[in-house]
Amino acid sequence: MNFNELNLEPRILHGISDRGYTEMTAVQEQTLAQTLHGMDVAVQSQTGTGKTAAFLITLFNCMFNSSAPKRKKALIIVPTRELAVQIEKEARLLNRHLGLAIGSFYGGVGYATQLALLKKGLDIVIGTPGRLLDLSERGQLNLKEIRILVIDEADRLFDMGFLPDIKKLLRKMPPRNIRQNMLFSATLNRFSKKIAAEHMNRPVFIEVTPERMTVDTILQELYHVKSHIKMNLMLGLLKAQAPQNALIFTNMRHSAFRLSKKLQHNGFRSQHLTGDLPQNRRLKIIDDFMAGKFALLVATDVAARGLHIDSLEMVINYDLPQDCENYVHRIGRTARAGNSGKAISLASEGTADHLEAIESFIGMKIPVQTADIDLYATDESLGFSPRKRFQHDRSNKNNRANFSPRNKQRNKSHGRPNRGGNGNGKWKA
Ligand code: ADP
Ligand code: MG
Repeated sequence: MNFNELNLEPRILHGISDRGYTEMTAVQEQTLAQTLHGMDVAVQSQTGTGKTAAFLITLFNCMFNSSAPKRKKALIIVPTRELAVQIEKEARLLNRHLGLAIGSFYGGVGYATQLALLKKGLDIVIGTPGRLLDLSERGQLNLKEIRILVIDEADRLFDMGFLPDIKKLLRKMPPRNIRQNMLFSATLNRFSKKIAAEHMNRPVFIEVTPERMTVDTILQELYHVKSHIKMNLMLGLLKAQAPQNALIFTNMRHSAFRLSKKLQHNGFRSQHLTGDLPQNRRLKIIDDFMAGKFALLVATDVAARGLHIDSLEMVINYDLPQDCENYVHRIGRTARAGNSGKAISLASEGTADHLEAIESFIGMKIPVQTADIDLYATDESLGFSPRKRFQHDRSNKNNRANFSPRNKQRNKSHGRPNRGGNGNGKWKA
């Protein structure tokens, strides 16, 4: 169904068509069918299905259609700064012909600019729970004025322990029956259902059949590879397939850091994105990646959650995710809203369990590729990593002089590259 078929204010439609949207996504169609009539909704739908525009268009419509003398104010609660920034960007694009005042609020930045913004008076406030609560407790954000509430990525908010903060925020808002409420989540768990029951007005539950749709448009490939040559295989794949950009996932922060450094040593433009980086740095990295200033972003699940990168060509699971849902989240970064994309997974020793869980979750076997020996590329960063250097030394059998006692010790704790694992059953990239 086309957006034009909705009875929307022409300036809203203008913004939508400027943004390049013509057909509604499934979740947009089902959500708007309710929310444009003032209904509350609790929506379950995978990432990348267009939830942001679904609630933004609702807000806009509500603000412009209301006969109330004062324009209605909206609050959007999100789990992370990155998501706040992304929603603000999308809102500004769609707002082009509307002139609404929009601001986002999150921790880690000074109060001065945020206070100035609030003083001006905002129509749409986007923020993370902690900072919103802070501002409201200081008397700088008046939640009593909120008439439209969006809780986005509810599952993530609850995972991150924000439930108490959200409850506090809800108590500072006017009663639910004078608000329109929308909740969005990749999964509607018991917390979402509790919020829906206690703080929303008999919401319509919308479920857009998820995973298959997301993964169907993605070309998935799986390589079985020993962990000590995983890097060589990934380098070879990157060289052979030369994606414009790729998002590479590791399971742990330090692996993301090290992998990115190694990629740099191998001549790739690469950065890492992990939750421990200061917020300004994270935002800069995301912006630069989206602007194409570097090609490879190595990230952990937490850092990449909710990241929206248009036209991402490839996702690589350098480590297979431990949680099968994360597999869908990860590969769903590519092939967003109908584009196709490619997802390559590298499975090493010890991840057979993960693989089985993933395949049963997505309801299909990931097609296995065999890598020709020529595909493995030399890792130029051998001098960089102590462990790699050790393996290098060891493979050079004639060079026994390099086989120092220290390396022998390391052999005991880390070695056995051919048998895999690192002795303690944990991942260490
Ligand atoms: P979600 O919140 O469900 O994860 P987003 O709202 O971030 O998804 O949308 C994912 C991508 O789809 C974004 O790049 C967005 O610009 C694009 N998109 C959203 N709606 C449409 C549409 N109707 N037509 C084309 N692209 C769309
Ligand atoms: Mg979203």
